Amino acid sequence: MQLALAGRVVTRFEAAVVGLDREVAGRVVERVEAVGKWLRIWFSGDLILVTHMLMSGSWHVYRPGEKWQRPRSQMRVAIHTDEFVAVAFQVPVTEFHSAASLARHRSEQLGPDVAAADFDAGAAVAQLRSRPELEVGVALLAQNLLAGLGNVFKSEVCFAARVNPFRRVETLSIAEVASLVEHARRLMTRSVTAGSRGRLSVYGRRGEACRVCGSAIESRKQGEDARVTFWCPVCQMG
Ligand SMILES: [Zn+2]
Repeated sequence: MQLALAGRVVTRFEAAVVGLDREVAGRVVERVEAVGKWLRIWFSGDLILVTHMLMSGSWHVYRPGEKWQRPRSQMRVAIHTDEFVAVAFQVPVTEFHSAASLARHRSEQLGPDVAAADFDAGAAVAQLRSRPELEVGVALLAQNLLAGLGNVFKSEVCFAARVNPFRRVETLSIAEVASLVEHARRLMTRSVTAGSRGRLSVYGRRGEACRVCGSAIESRKQGEDARVTFWCPVCQMG
């Protein structure tokens, strides 16, 4: 990746991920760093693409026009340059950062990886409860508390556990935190195995009927990064 991309100008950038609508074409790839399963691509102009591969995701490098080895439906991000095309398939975490926001996220200190074979649910519960002041929807995305949950499944996990994503962690019982962790584990390992997001309960369904109670799904931005959160106001009253 570093050899293929560093120093090259991005000619086209494709993203099949909600929220990645940034202007990348025309920027120069400054460097590519791999830290564990994290990959960081530094573009000129203080823009960093951060991805986490978990178990299912991978980056491939192709020549322009070369046939991809995985279907296009699994593409999350593609970075085109004149010489190479780098494609990320099924990477569950993809985010843009500035150097400052990346430092804030400290993504190198990862919490338990929700899709890992040796996932420790008890440790994940303890990590989440160590930040009682955070709203649930923010805590679930903090990769230093629980690694591998992206913005889509943050909402899905809260719905599955029937927890309102705007509650603070300190208001949750231990059983509720454990339920969130259990559903995170179940949904992420299922989505990894199935190779697709499957049918979503709340994410992207603002105004549509809840599949359980029929109420209209709501959405609003949450946290200092303003990530959109979806929830059912009736099923997730508690
Ligand atoms: Zn409902």
